[in-house]
Amino acid sequence: MSVSACGRRTGMATDVVFEPLDFMAQLAALVPTPLVNLTRYHGVFAPNHRLREQITPSRRGRRGAGTANEPTPAAHVSMTGAQRLKRVFKIDIETCGNCGGAVKVIASTEDPTVIKQILEHLERRAAPAPPAELSGLKEPG
Ligand SMILES: [Zn+2]
Repeated sequence: MSVSACGRRTGMATDVVFEPLDFMAQLAALVPTPLVNLTRYHGVFAPNHRLREQITPSRRGRRGAGTANEPTPAAHVSMTGAQRLKRVFKIDIETCGNCGGAVKVIASTEDPTVIKQILEHLERRAAPAPPAELSGLKEPG
């Protein structure tokens, strides 16, 4: 396996030759481990930097010695599923499509069997009526 780069101007080596297994090991080393944050902050933005609290809008960070009497910042409130749908896919399930009123989620299901039953029921209701000769009905006349 050979990886080439243009090194004419710099006079550097242009090829790196790997054995296939070594090349796979080099690639595998670049894959982050599961459940690890891909964004890392350094310097004053690092999670434990003593000045982080003073520069972040949410006042997060390690509490300094002089800030013991100040109230703690409000806990982060995550977005609801409906808010995420609206933000990412521009699908608004909080507003009624007919009257514009507020819609409230009263139930949700993640069971594939139940979801399939509901979708089949909706398809049956939405499907056009079969032609008269197939349904056994005769047109008047
Ligand atoms: Zn409505």
